[in-house]
Amino acid sequence: MASSNSIPSRVLCVDGDLAGESSTASRRIRAIVDALREHGVEVIESLSYEDGLANLVSDTAIHCLLLDWSLGANDEGSHAAATDLLRKLRKRNEAMPVFLMADRKALSGPMTVEVASLADEFIWTLEDSPAFIARRVEAALDRYFDGLLPPFARALVNYNRDAEYSWAAPGHQGGVAFTKSPIGRLFHDAYGETLFRTDMGIERGALGSLLSHSGPIGESEQYAARVFGSDRSYSVLNGTSASNRTIMSACIGEQQIALCDRNCHKSIEQGLAITGGIPVFLQAGRNRYGVIGPIHPDQMTPAAIAAKIAANPLAAQAKSQRAVYSVVTNCTYDGMCYDAKSAEALLGQSVDRIHFDEAWYGYARFNPMYRDRYAMRGAASSHADDGPTVYATHSTHKLLAALSQTSFIHVRDGRGAIDHGRFNEAYGAQASTSPLYALIASNEVAAAMMAGPSGEALTQDVIDEAIACRQAVAQVQRELAAKGEWFFTPWNAPEVTDPATGVRYAFADAPADLLAHEPSCWVLHPGESWHGFDALPDGWCLLDPIKFAVVAPGMQADGQLAEQGIPCDLVTAYLGQHGIVPSRTTAHMVLFLFSMGVTKGKWGTLINALLDFKRDYDANKPLAEVLPRVLAAAPARYAGMGLKDLGDQMWAELRAGRMGHWEAEAYAQLPKPVCTPRVAFQALMAGEVELVPLNEMANRVVTVGVIPYPPGIPIVMPGENIGPADGAWISYLRVLQHWAEAFPGFAKEVEGTIEKDGVYSVYCLKS
Ligand SMILES: *Cc1c(COP(=O)(O)O)cnc(C)c1O
Repeated sequence: MASSNSIPSRVLCVDGDLAGESSTASRRIRAIVDALREHGVEVIESLSYEDGLANLVSDTAIHCLLLDWSLGANDEGSHAAATDLLRKLRKRNEAMPVFLMADRKALSGPMTVEVASLADEFIWTLEDSPAFIARRVEAALDRYFDGLLPPFARALVNYNRDAEYSWAAPGHQGGVAFTKSPIGRLFHDAYGETLFRTDMGIERGALGSLLSHSGPIGESEQYAARVFGSDRSYSVLNGTSASNRTIMSACIGEQQIALCDRNCHKSIEQGLAITGGIPVFLQAGRNRYGVIGPIHPDQMTPAAIAAKIAANPLAAQAKSQRAVYSVVTNCTYDGMCYDAKSAEALLGQSVDRIHFDEAWYGYARFNPMYRDRYAMRGAASSHADDGPTVYATHSTHKLLAALSQTSFIHVRDGRGAIDHGRFNEAYGAQASTSPLYALIASNEVAAAMMAGPSGEALTQDVIDEAIACRQAVAQVQRELAAKGEWFFTPWNAPEVTDPATGVRYAFADAPADLLAHEPSCWVLHPGESWHGFDALPDGWCLLDPIKFAVVAPGMQADGQLAEQGIPCDLVTAYLGQHGIVPSRTTAHMVLFLFSMGVTKGKWGTLINALLDFKRDYDANKPLAEVLPRVLAAAPARYAGMGLKDLGDQMWAELRAGRMGHWEAEAYAQLPKPVCTPRVAFQALMAGEVELVPLNEMANRVVTVGVIPYPPGIPIVMPGENIGPADGAWISYLRVLQHWAEAFPGFAKEVEGTIEKDGVYSVYCLKS
C-alpha cells in the first residue's frame, strides 16, 4: 500500500479560530494542527471559506480538508458558504478526504443530508483528542493515496521501494552509471533520480509486460479502457504514428481497398506502404482562409464510395471491391469535429472497420461540448455487435497530459473484429522490446486525470479559458473598429443564439456560460458566411472552441483578396520574436491551441503581443527593431525596410502569385494513381528512382508524399502522377518555391521535397 510516509502529504485546515489564541476553541484547533505536524503532515491554515476555496483550486498537492462547520457567523449564510466550498471541491475531486469539524454544543442547526454526503468524517473538536484526530486523518490519507494511484503507478511505487539489485539491462543500473562521469552526472542530476530508478529492463515480473499486456501494465490498459470507454485499450510508446500503423497493419492486406481521409497524417501513408493496401480517398473541402474542412457526408454514402472505388484505376486489381478499412481524421488540426455518430452510421454501410484518428482529440469524451462527436461514445457495452469495429487513436501527449511519444489505441469490437491475439502481432511489430516505464506511467496518469469528475472540470477549464480569450479579442476588435482601425478577428460565429430563449448575441457580448456549454454556438450552420463551408448539413461539423484561430484583415467574403491586407507569416515571425510560438499559420490565419497547460497570463500576453504587432505594423517600424533575426538572415534583401513595407510586398506577392488559387486547385482534385504507395515505396528503397527538379517534374510518378505545411495534407501521394507542368500540383509547388526565394526566412515547409539552391526536387520513379 502507498502510504503518507512515502508521499509528502498536505492538509488544508479552514478554521477561523486559528487566528485567536486564548479561547478554548483556538487552543483546541491549534493542538490538532500541532499533532498533525508532529506526524510529518504539512498543514496549510486558512481563516475563511473564500481563502480555503482559493487554496483548494490553486494547490492540487492538498490531500485532505479539515473544515470548521461553525466558522464565522455559524448561521444559514456561513453554512451556505461552507456547502458551496464542498460542492466546488467535489466537482473536481470525489475522493479527497474531508473532515467536518464542529463543536457539538455550538452547532446552530442540523446538518443537511447533502453536506453529510459531501464530507467523509466528522470531528467533534472538544471531545476527540488531538492525537486521535491526527491518526484518523493519517489513515484517511493512506486510503486516499492508495485509491489515487492507478494500477501501474502503484506497482512502480511499490517496486521502487523494494530496491532490488539487478544484473540485467539497462546498463545504467538505476542511474549509477551516469554518476561516473561529469557529463553523465549533469544529466542524472538534471532529470532527478526517480527517472533512472524506475527505468528498468523487462525482466521485472512484478511490473508486468507491455508486449503481452500482462500484470500491472495489463491492468493499467484495462483501467484506460474503462476511462475511455473501449473494449480494449493498448498503451503505445511510439506515438499515434505507431498506433495508426498498428491498426492498418492489422486491418489491411496486400491489394485490399482502404478508404482513407486525404487529410491524413504521414503515418497513414506509412501504413499503406507497410500493408500494400490500395487507397481510395475521401476528400475534404477547403475554405477561403485555407482551412481544410470536414469530409462532406455525401462522400460517405454507399453510392459515393462505390463510385470512388469504380473510378480508381488501381482498385480493379483489388481482391474484393469492398473496402476492408476506413480512416477519418477527427477532429482536424484546425478543430473541425465530426458528427461521429452519423459518420459511423454512414461509413458502416460500406466498411466493417472504422478508425477515427483522434490524435488531437483525446479529451472529447470528458466534456458534454463534444457529445456524439468522437469514436468511443457512451458505454463500451452499448456498442452493437452488428455495428462496425471502431478504433480510436489518441496522442496522449498532444492535448492530454502525458510525455511525448505516448499514445493509446482504443478498440470496440463489432463486425470485422480482429481478436487480440492477431492484433497484438501488429502491435508488436511497431513497438520496442525495451519500453520506458515512465512513458507507460504517464499514459496511465493522463487517463487517471480524466477519470471521474476531474475530466469534465479540467476540460471545462480549458474551454472556459479559450472562450475568455476569444471574447477578449472580439471586444478589442470591436472597440478598434469603432475608431476605424483594424484588428484580428477570432475565427468563430460573429453572432450566436441561445436556443433556450431565442435571444441572439454578438459573440463579444454573449454570456460566457452560454458559449461554454452550448455546442450549437460552435456548430457550422449552413448559410453563415464566417466559416466558409457552405454546403455542409447543419450539425455535421462543430468548431472546437479550444482550437483558437485569429483572422487577419484582407480576405474578403467572396474569397478574393482585398487590395490591402496583412499576411499572417509576418504576424507569426513577429510573435516568434516575442517568444510566442503559434501552432500553425496560413496566409490569413494564425492558430493557437489551448490545453490544460495554458494559463490566463499566457493568453493575456498573446493579446498584448497582437496589439503590439498592430502598433508596430501601423507605424512601419524598422525590421532592424522588430524582426532583427529575419533581417540578420538576409540583410541585403531586407535592408532599410519597415514591418509594413515587408507586409505590403508579401501581400502583393500573394495577389500576383495567386497562392490561394493554386492551393485551392491542388486540393480540389486528386492526382491519378499509377501504382500503390507500397510499390512506390519499394522502388524508392531499391533505388529505382531519380531526384527530379521541379522544372522537369511534369507527368512523373512520385515515390514520396509531397506535403506542404500548412495545411499539412499531401498534394500527391507515393505512386501518384504529379500531372502537367501547368497543372495544379506543379503550379502550386512553383508558387511555394518562388515565395521561399522572394522572402528569405519565410519559406514554407514542403515535406517530401529536397531543396537545393532554392530548387525543389522530389524522388520520382525512373522514367
Ligand atoms: C500528430 C498526429 C499523428 C501522430 O501522432 P504522434 O503522437 O506525433 O506520433 C497522427 N495523426 C494525426 C492526425 C496527427 O495530427
